[in-house]
Amino acid sequence: MSTPRPAGTARRRTTRNPKWPRRTTPDLMGVALSAARRGMFVFPLWPRSKTPALHGKRRCDRTGVCAERHLGWEYRATRDPDLIRYWWRALPACNVGIACGPSTLYVLDLDPAHGDEPPPEWAGARHGRDVLAQLAARAGQPYPGDTYTVLSPSRSEHLYFQVGVDSTLRNTASRAGWRIDSRGRGGFIVAAGSMRRDGLYTIARRDPIASLPPWLVPHFTAPSSPEHDTTVSGGVHPLPDRRRRRYLDAVAGLVKHAAPKTAHDTLVRAAYTLGRLVAGGQFSEDEARAALHNAARQRRIPTHEADDAISDGLLAGAAHPRRLSDHGL
Ligand SMILES: [Zn+2]
Repeated sequence: MSTPRPAGTARRRTTRNPKWPRRTTPDLMGVALSAARRGMFVFPLWPRSKTPALHGKRRCDRTGVCAERHLGWEYRATRDPDLIRYWWRALPACNVGIACGPSTLYVLDLDPAHGDEPPPEWAGARHGRDVLAQLAARAGQPYPGDTYTVLSPSRSEHLYFQVGVDSTLRNTASRAGWRIDSRGRGGFIVAAGSMRRDGLYTIARRDPIASLPPWLVPHFTAPSSPEHDTTVSGGVHPLPDRRRRRYLDAVAGLVKHAAPKTAHDTLVRAAYTLGRLVAGGQFSEDEARAALHNAARQRRIPTHEADDAISDGLLAGAAHPRRLSDHGL
């Protein structure tokens, strides 16, 4: 039997003991099952990230569920408890994504100002919540806060609303007002109980999910020039360009092709390399985690073990920020 790890010692492990719990991992299968029981369609996100763990179009091999055509997370999200158990047994540390469209949810994402000054139109606002309050006041309506609400680790508030099955409302970014984004068709939200490096998504309000107040709808209706969808909840990252993608593939390739006994150490080193570039602002932490988890999965490194190795490597790399030179890869 293993003994408890003394505080302050390295967290990296080279041996596994399935009876010994890893870090403080919440019961994410339980989170997914309970969301599904409440009618939500869920799918896995890579550990500590908000990046879908189901393969994207670029990596599709057109087999299995994708034999006819590639099916993305929005189509594969499920309420089926058997499929949920299957997914989270295979990927136990994965966060829980809720596909808003199939779940007939519309979620307002109210962000803190993080020290930024609002534009004159929203003078005095310190948070998307203040902007929503101003919108309500202008419409002569009560603040629409009596609904199920989740607080993200970065202090964003996610207000959940029910919409009809025929709702065509899609994702928006700052369309309704400063620091107000939203997720609808084509969008997902991270479920309460999921975990990021900087903390947990927690329930701020346990109320039932209210219907979307009709006065809010026009604020989220598409203008004549359509915005592109943001499929990453809570933050928008531009698509990596070809060079960045090639770099991620190259680093992940080191893990994929490492000799059997060195796969774990190679994963830590690859995470360290990417951790430096994340700290240098060249990649988002989410895309680094996704690339590393994809590689680890192909090497059949268990998700928990990969999560530990990746978190350790990223953390160590963050202490030495670096940017890619104009030459190199
Ligand atoms: Zn596919």
